[in-house]
Amino acid sequence: MTHASGPAVLHAPESVAACPRAAGAYAVVLRLPDAVAVPVPRPGGTLPAGLYVYLGAANGPGGLRARLRRHVLGGNRRHWHLDYLRPEAAVVAIAAQPGGSECAWTGALLDGLDATAPLARFGSSDCRRCPAHLLRLPEDTAAAKVARLGDAAAQYHVNA
Ligand SMILES: [Zn+2]
Repeated sequence: MTHASGPAVLHAPESVAACPRAAGAYAVVLRLPDAVAVPVPRPGGTLPAGLYVYLGAANGPGGLRARLRRHVLGGNRRHWHLDYLRPEAAVVAIAAQPGGSECAWTGALLDGLDATAPLARFGSSDCRRCPAHLLRLPEDTAAAKVARLGDAAAQYHVNA
């Protein structure tokens, strides 16, 4: 194995302190109890109620743990697209994959689940590969399956 990706490990949102400080990819599994209108990416749109996953990469100080803590706790400033959604959403689970690629993970979720991208380019303004980094999941999707597909993504990533 030549790739540097570790396994994608699932955590409860209240256990964010157990996430690694390494750089890598992450997934935030969210539930929207009601439809939410968001102004991003412009001109924005409406996301139906349901189960979602937001994929991202954390390469700054504090790595995955710091970014996931920010997403779990929320923040006053809207910096990431997720910040527009976060106050209306309940975090179901988080998953961290040191060295992973959020685009490979997104591709694995689109391939491996009946996931859709209801709002094009949400979370993926700087990505030319994915339809969005926010995917709507089938209602019965287990968060553990999202993490398992992250592991599958790491395998694809070897040859990417
Ligand atoms: Zn992407």
